[in-house]
This record gives sequence, C-alpha cells and structure tokens, in this order.
Amino acid sequence: MVKDEMIWDLSQLVKNADSTFVQKQLGDMVIEAEKLRAKYHGKVTGLDAKEIRSLLESKDALTLKFEGAVRYGQLSYMANSTDDTAKQLNDTVRRAMTKVSQVLAFIDIELGRLLASKSSMTKDQVLVEYRHYLERVLRRTPHMVSETEEQLIMAKDRNGVSAWELLQSDWLSTRMFTMEIEGEKKTMPYGEIIGFYQSPDRNLRKQARQTVFESLGKDDIVWASAIRAVCEDHMEMCKLRKWPTAMVQSLIDNDVDEEAINSLMKTILNNTKLFQRYLKIKAQLMSLPKLADYDIAAPLPKSPEKTYAWADARKEIIAAYGEFDEQFGTWITEMYEKRHLDAEVRKGKVSGAWCFYWMAGKSAYVLQSYNGRMADVYTQAHELGHAIHTYLASRAQKPSNCEVGSCVAETGSLFGELLLTERLLSKAKTKEEKQAILANVLDEFGISAFQVSARVFFEQSLYDTIKQGQFLDSETINKLWLAARSRIYGDTVEWLDVLKWEWTRTPHYYIANYRFYNYPYVFAQLFVFALYRLYREQGKSFIPKLKALLAAGSSRSPRELGAELGFDITSEAFWQKGMQQAEEFVEMLQKTL
Ligand SMILES: [Zn+2]
Repeated sequence: MVKDEMIWDLSQLVKNADSTFVQKQLGDMVIEAEKLRAKYHGKVTGLDAKEIRSLLESKDALTLKFEGAVRYGQLSYMANSTDDTAKQLNDTVRRAMTKVSQVLAFIDIELGRLLASKSSMTKDQVLVEYRHYLERVLRRTPHMVSETEEQLIMAKDRNGVSAWELLQSDWLSTRMFTMEIEGEKKTMPYGEIIGFYQSPDRNLRKQARQTVFESLGKDDIVWASAIRAVCEDHMEMCKLRKWPTAMVQSLIDNDVDEEAINSLMKTILNNTKLFQRYLKIKAQLMSLPKLADYDIAAPLPKSPEKTYAWADARKEIIAAYGEFDEQFGTWITEMYEKRHLDAEVRKGKVSGAWCFYWMAGKSAYVLQSYNGRMADVYTQAHELGHAIHTYLASRAQKPSNCEVGSCVAETGSLFGELLLTERLLSKAKTKEEKQAILANVLDEFGISAFQVSARVFFEQSLYDTIKQGQFLDSETINKLWLAARSRIYGDTVEWLDVLKWEWTRTPHYYIANYRFYNYPYVFAQLFVFALYRLYREQGKSFIPKLKALLAAGSSRSPRELGAELGFDITSEAFWQKGMQQAEEFVEMLQKTL
C-alpha cells in the first residue's frame, strides 16, 4: 500500500497509455504545428490585435492538447531510463519537440517585427492576457539580427562556443582521480570523488578536495582556453546584438532589470559579516578554531542520525503546508493520493529531484529517490512547493504565461522548505536536533546567497579584465577568483591553496550563450527569505499575497509583482528583510551553544 504510493501513476496523463497511441499523438502534434505555420507564416506583421490573440490562443491550445503525451514520454524515461520502450518514446518526444519549436519559431520573430513598429499593441485590451508575453518579445527584438545572420551564428556556435562548453564538461567527466581511503588507493571519476566532500570524516573531505583541484589545475590550459573563448565570444555577441553590458542578455532572459540586481548585490556586500558570523558559529559547533573550505558545507559532527519513514515525511510535509494554508494542504494531499510522486529508489532511475508541471491536468509530477534522510524530506517539500506553484499558475494563466524565469521559479519551493523548517523546529526535542535543522537552512542560504555571489563578482571581473585589454591566462583567472572569493569570506575560512582552481569545474561559466547563470540563485534565495520575513511580520494577511504572486506565473515581471504586493525589489530595504530572517536563524543557533 505505502510502497505503491512511492511509485507514480503516469496513466492519468494520457487517454491511452499504450506506446503506439502516445507515438501517434506526438506525430499529430507536429502535424498540427505545421498547420499553424501554414496558416500564419509570413503574415503576422499584417495581423490586428484580435487576430494576434487567436494565433497565441491556438499555440496555447496546441501545448495543452499534447502536453500529456509529451510528459508521459519524458517521465516514463526518467523513471526507467534503461527500459527500451521508454527510451524510444523519449527519443520521439525529443525529436517532436525540436521540430515543433523550429516550425513555430517564426511566431516570436514576426511578432517582434510587428511590435517594433506598433508597440502600442502591447497595451491593447484585446491582448490584455498576453501583455507581458508581448512586452518580453518586444524587449528582445532590438537585439535580433537578420535571419541570415542568425543562421550564421547558429552554424558557427556548433563548432565554436558550444564546442568549448562540451569540451569543458567532457574533460571534467572523463578525468580519473586517485586517493587513499583506509590505506588503500582508489581511482574514481569526478562524480564519485565529490561524494567525499560531504563525508563526516574531515580528513577524507580534505583529501578529496586536494586531489580533485590539484589534478584539475594541471589541465589549466584546457580550462583557461575554454573560459576565455566563451567570454570573448560573448563580448563579440554583445557588440553584434547591441547588448550594452555583458549582463544584459541574462537580464532580458530572466525578466529583471539592472537596478534590482544592483541593489540585491549591494545588500549581499553589506551583510557579509552576518554570513561570516554564521561560519564562526559553525566552527564552534565543529570544535574547530576556524573552518577550512572543506568544512563549509559539511554536516555537523553531532547531527542526530534521524531517519523519516515515508508515512512520517508525508505527514510532516502535509502539515507544514496545511498549517500555512488549507488549500495548500489539500493540494499536497492530492499529490500523494493521486500518486503523482515517484520516490522509490530503483536502478535505471535518473538521479536528482524534479518537478514537472502538468498544466492540462492543473497539477504536477515529482520525481526523487527517497532514502529517509532529513535532506530527502526537505527535497520532497521543495519539489512539492514547485507543484503548488503549478496548481496556482495553471488555474489562473494561459500556458504562455507559465514560463516562470529562474529568479522567481524557486519561490514556492524555497518557501515550502521554510514552512517545513518551522514545523520541524517546533517539534525538535534536543539541542542537537535543533542545531542540525538550523545548520541545514543556513548552509543552503549561505551557499546560494553568499558563495554564489562570489561567482557573480568573478564573472563580472572576467569581462572587465578583457575590456581593459588584458589576456585571460590561468594565473590571471586564479587571481580574479581569489579576489571575488575574499569579498565574501574575508579571512573567516582557511583555504587549500589548490582551491584557486575552483572556477575550472563550475559548469555555469561555460554554458554557451547563457551568461551570468549565478545571480538568479542569489535572487531566489534572498527573495524568499524576504517574503517569509514579511509573512512573519504581517501574519495571515500575507498569505493571499503569496498566492497571488505564485498564481501570476510569468504574466508580470518580478518587479511588477513586487510592486503590486507592496514591496520594491529595486530597494535595498526589501532585500534587507531577507537578511533579517537569516539573522534570526543565526541568533537561534547562537542560543543553542
Ligand atoms: Zn527547485
């Protein structure tokens, strides 16, 4: 009975779960997309507001009609990646999706042209539900180049910047590392050795990091060449696409503006002492005079080995959400009862934890491998928070307005984690239990808000250095990384010398055509802490505000959403609310000493 509940039921996604039926659906999806293209291609610039609305509605209807088949294929594979039928189906999904996006790519391009000459259309009452969608298309338009140039860029990227990205990740994943464990030499790949970073054995943690970074540093020519190519390519693209600064591309993608990000980053710099205070308390809890880099994210030595049976985790999570809002509790219960979670540990299942929206069903599906640790309970609460976001947004919005950018996409999930924290803290019986819960929250906060900020400063400094005409060799890059790191940590941490190579393994710096994939983590973390603080200050009257924010999906920018709910994300005062919440957790931890 309980075991069944840990395996999801995907049959609800489709009328018929037979793989031939699903394959046929995917084929029909491509045919319908082609019909839509035949009707509108080359004609969009001549359409009036009403006709634009029916085009966008047709596109949304297509998404909803075939969403179940797409999800069925993807999720069958994620749950059973070694199964031949699932593999085949997933491959068909991938091909069909690529085809559909190629076939329909003309919509946004032509819409951009239309809006560039008729920007008042974004304010037309007929298009009110698509207003922000159109604004986002319009914001991208000045940075588009001609169709021939776009094709040229795609062609040169394949063996240019995308090849550098691939080289970095392939190089990293094919390295082998040898270290001594209990007197025996063991050789293993990157994915395995990093498991020791979390070991309760301090010496193993140290060994693992020393081994990894010493070895990565020897290939400095590979990493430096790759990061330099990626950055210099981006600078060229900034000129070509008229992005005024290196960050603008990402600001447009994330639907935010420089003003908000500047005050976010200023708030981080103004509060580094708070983070350093936490690190000093953690050192005390670990009976160390000072933390080393390999202690920052390590578990506390006296953490109780508490495990949670599935039924207990379920009970705590439903209670955490249900005590906040009755409707949240009902939806979370429905997720379990309708078997929308796949939590069983099994071979062939993809690793990690995921939440997939199912807009047509106004629900979601969650995948994780549940082992009963506190971290697994948190992961489950996190993914179910994403599910809540979907429950709200799919009821209030068109599919085009459910493409939430990464700054806001973690709002439901991280807020849910805080609700779980509140619940677990209220039930904690011992000092050690309390410490483990608080350290867990503060470790995550510290890494996402502060450690990742060092990466923001580092990435910015790469572009500044290129602009000054300097060459990015590995020694120069090391210096830039150490400078960025010390802005956050000061002298509170003892670093292994080889950690100067930390930038070599961070995939985010190498992703082709996707720069500054760092401040969204900082934004998301501090945003939710600030919201939680407002909830604590305003009590029940805050709940409808949070629900309105989640229900808005991507129909408004984060800045607009904030303003509607009475806070200003361009002001440091708003972000400081998040810091106040973090400070309260630090105070609580201090009191347990
Ligand atoms: Zn998440």
